Amino acid sequence: MEISRNSCLTLDQDDALAELRDEFNLPANMIYLDGNSLGAQPKAALSRAQQVIANEWGQDLITSWNKAGWFDLPSRLGNLLAPLIGAEQDEVVVTDTTSINLFKAIAAALHQQASSKENEHRKVIITERSNFPTDIYMAEGLTRWLDRGYRLHLIDSPDELASVLNHDTALLMLTHVNYRTGYMHDMEAVTALAHQHGALVCWDLAHSAGAVPVALNQANADYAVGCCYKYLNGGPGAPAFIWVPRRHQEQFQHPLTGWWGHATPFAMQPNFVATQGIRRALCGTQAIVSQAMIEPGLNIFAQTNMDAIRRKSLALTDLFIQLVESRCAKHALELVTPRAHQERGSQVSLRHEHAYAVIQALIERGVIGDYREPGIMRFGFTPLYTRFVDVWDAVEILRDILDSKSYRTDIQRNAVT
Ligand SMILES: *Cc1c(COP(=O)(O)O)cnc(C)c1O
Repeated sequence: MEISRNSCLTLDQDDALAELRDEFNLPANMIYLDGNSLGAQPKAALSRAQQVIANEWGQDLITSWNKAGWFDLPSRLGNLLAPLIGAEQDEVVVTDTTSINLFKAIAAALHQQASSKENEHRKVIITERSNFPTDIYMAEGLTRWLDRGYRLHLIDSPDELASVLNHDTALLMLTHVNYRTGYMHDMEAVTALAHQHGALVCWDLAHSAGAVPVALNQANADYAVGCCYKYLNGGPGAPAFIWVPRRHQEQFQHPLTGWWGHATPFAMQPNFVATQGIRRALCGTQAIVSQAMIEPGLNIFAQTNMDAIRRKSLALTDLFIQLVESRCAKHALELVTPRAHQERGSQVSLRHEHAYAVIQALIERGVIGDYREPGIMRFGFTPLYTRFVDVWDAVEILRDILDSKSYRTDIQRNAVT
């Protein structure tokens, strides 16, 4: 059947998640396809901000650490997040940035390997050249700092894994859904393969948490980190999360041993004794105002489940691909994202010769996507607030821009693309 704007409106009428869009504050006349970079604002965030700033900070001041539950907030948020990533209670905390949490997870994994006679010789960290740069940079920085012969091995395709994993591999560090292409790894199969070779596996869930179902415990993963300001809608620069499964918590050790990871922080002891459990991942005083903004987004997820979100996500990305290929057929757009559902996250990336200029033209017309090197336009689909009719309208605007060549190839790059 031919797809039309009307048939997209019908899909919206029949959409079980449609009413969750009302939970978000979305500007009129904007089609927001960048929730993979900065999630939209939950309406409840504004009243929560008012409460935190006016009452908890403004009136109750220091007593809010106990009274308003500030001290427990990283754990409480972690527990709300746990079901979205297949984690148990008390296995996740929200804290610091993804980069910093990667540092802790990589350090902990290397330490874990180095602590056993059988594995102490393992010196190689494997990751993908196409990984998000900060993941590679953090591993690079740590291995250089340690200066103990650790080295990074960058692969160019997941197909190489079977041949590069071996008895020298300490850690396989992968991003579950690639930020640029939208390619999704088979977490369970890859983890099992790495374990066969004695390697530990750390997953970065920046483009997975809240985007696709994740089953960390089922996959028997070893460490995971991720981002709260993307699909989880926690606000700009929202603190990130770190997951350590219960089976590793006893031996979980990282070098950022600040007082919030201490067993008795207010005993003010002169030596560090790590607390039990996942709160060992905390370092210093938490960014409470930013943390508080994460809860409204997580509460929206609690009204549905990741299977329903996944169904709509695939329907949205399928529709986008189909419409781009039919309505923009005469333009040289290359689909970078896999067609196979099991290999696709919740975004679609298209390569075009003038990708940056086209994205800027789209943004000017109210369709917000973004640009990533080299030559890629990225469109994120967030089932909580993206409608099918938005997909139709976005593709029509893209078609019009390409047909009329109304984009400026001489445009200056902004600092953030
Ligand atoms: C967005 C993203 C990050 C961001 O890290 P920050 O420390 O929060 O800036 C890290 N890794 C991946 C894979 C990402 O997509």
